[in-house]
Amino acid sequence: MPPTTATKKQKPAQSAPAHNGNGAVTPKSAGQMTAMFEELGLPTDPNNLYAQTVSTMLHAAEVMGLPDYLKQILAQPKNEIMVHFPVRMDNGKTRLFKGYRVQHNNALGPYKGGLRFHHDVHLDDVKSLAFLMTMKCSLVGVPYGGGKGGIKVNPRDHSKGEMERIVRRFTTAIAHNIGPDYDIPAPDVGSGSQHMAWIADTYSFLSEIGGNNPIAVITGKPVEYGGSLGREKATGQGVVDTLVEMLPELKLKPEKCTFSVLGYGNVGSWSGKIFQDKGAKMVAVADHTGFIANPKGIDAFDLDEHVKKTGGVKGYGKAAAISKDEFYKTKVDVFIPAALEQMIQEPEARMLDCKVVAEGANAPTTPAGERILMERGIEVLPAILCNAGGVTVSYFEWVQNKTFQSWDLEYVDRELNKHMVKAAQKTRAARKQFNCDLRTAAYIAALQRLQQAYEVRGIFP
Ligand code: NAD
Repeated sequence: MPPTTATKKQKPAQSAPAHNGNGAVTPKSAGQMTAMFEELGLPTDPNNLYAQTVSTMLHAAEVMGLPDYLKQILAQPKNEIMVHFPVRMDNGKTRLFKGYRVQHNNALGPYKGGLRFHHDVHLDDVKSLAFLMTMKCSLVGVPYGGGKGGIKVNPRDHSKGEMERIVRRFTTAIAHNIGPDYDIPAPDVGSGSQHMAWIADTYSFLSEIGGNNPIAVITGKPVEYGGSLGREKATGQGVVDTLVEMLPELKLKPEKCTFSVLGYGNVGSWSGKIFQDKGAKMVAVADHTGFIANPKGIDAFDLDEHVKKTGGVKGYGKAAAISKDEFYKTKVDVFIPAALEQMIQEPEARMLDCKVVAEGANAPTTPAGERILMERGIEVLPAILCNAGGVTVSYFEWVQNKTFQSWDLEYVDRELNKHMVKAAQKTRAARKQFNCDLRTAAYIAALQRLQQAYEVRGIFP
């Protein structure tokens, strides 16, 4: 991830300006933004991810006229938890690990959000991702607030036994800060269903805090142990549901589209497979191991097998290895970033040759990158809309756990589609009402629900 250290006081990150060339709203002046950042003690480095995400929210808040007290509440998380815990390694030595859980907001329901296992996880990244979860849950209409967490660890460096001990010990360290009715984690980058099973199992042994149904403390579990059908593919399914809903408006037919994917893990590979099933053709893919392309098409299922076997797209025999620049310059209708944050900066935005960016990853586009995309007339389907499928099916899993039900896949997919279509409609309605870009519109739709909740709840005492 790009460095996030602030060197000197700078203007806060500017969110991309509202745009459609038709009386667009002017963002709050840098001076006013700076005052709010200073008042709240927020980072002012424009490269800082937290500064960027909060700026985007403040811009949307300004466009819709959100009261100042709500801007202040939402600009900071409620709780930031950092833990350090020792774990015995296979060689008998002990290593100390650092873990995080950030609880951003719970006005709409329990905190909800994934756990990232990555060697480069920092508090500001986790805060940003927790903040985005608040926005996403609000937009997609599930009764959750936003949270996020993680462990500073590279899962590829550890045996299965070591990972199990790391995950179980982390669970113990945060056990009193999570709970089936309070804060419900899930998978994110580097974590998967096996890790969720270990978390659920560890938590269920802590009988004094586990309650009656302890495994509802976490979602993204294996189907054999309280997981939901359709959860593994849910984020990719939601990306494609959003594309199917939004592309016709942009005069594109999903079944005629070409596309490229950045990141071929859970979100990237499922987006690829499901979009291909709709008739679209994948022509270029990249991940941490390399960049590949084939203008005749790359079979998304076959590539998935290769990645599962070898750990990355590198060496895939049915496509040519290309350079990073060639990857971004590949002409496609849809580009799906599904790797990490801040990967579409100015240079990448200038190189992209696509009509639509469908954000599978969280915060993949920097404000500076987004400005370039806008100038070039490239439409961005924002992450809080596009990748909300994961948390939606996590919600379904939680409901099934709490009510001892088991839904079939058809029902899960149908309910997911309803949520995605409704979120897209709310975004479109906000764009029409406020004459702004889609990201601002999605934030406005999310903020409207939060505002309604705060207005009826009031501020205690
Ligand atoms: P994952 O670990 O399954 O896959 C991550 C992918 O990113 C891998 O293919 C990896 O090779 C690639 N990658 C990592 N560093 C890279 C680099 N420097 N250059 C190119 N590729 C790189 O993770 P995931 O669950 O698919 O998550 C991907 C994104 O989607 C993240 O932003 C995550 O927060 C977001 N997201 C995930 C879910 C979910 O349900 N898993 C839900 C919503 C959003």
